Amino acid sequence: MVFSSVFHSSEGVVRYLLALDEIAIPMRGKMSESGKMILLVEDNEDNRIVYSTILKHFGYEVTEAWNGEEGISKARTSHPDLILMDISIPIIDGWEATQVLKHDPATKHIPIIALTAHALASDREKAFEVGCDGYLAKPCEPRAVVAEVQRFLGRNNGH
Ligand code: MN
Repeated sequence: MVFSSVFHSSEGVVRYLLALDEIAIPMRGKMSESGKMILLVEDNEDNRIVYSTILKHFGYEVTEAWNGEEGISKARTSHPDLILMDISIPIIDGWEATQVLKHDPATKHIPIIALTAHALASDREKAFEVGCDGYLAKPCEPRAVVAEVQRFLGRNNGH
């Protein structure tokens, strides 16, 4: 299935999740919970559902925020192991929210992966300038999100 072709409609999300269930449900119970928590900061509901669902299938706990202000506050209270940060989010954008978290001694150690709709070289540079640890250009295949998360949490875990 070409994910990007179904990404932009709710019906597409449902079809994707059904396909995902066929793969993931038999795996449930065999996979141990990772015990790692991801904070997903994303204002688009379809993206939130897709990314959150696949991360949970892979054993991660997921907590969600809908805007930058809530993202900062949840990062401080939930102590996530990693943050997926959409850049285009209301109130405080992802660039600024990342800078706030990377200047706070309580949260600066948390890896932040930027999710940006603009596949521009300048965005990649800006992501690392503001302190992001990783960068994914949207539309982003959910398995690529999982792979990037595993790269960080696996490395931190010594896996
Ligand atoms: Mn957005």
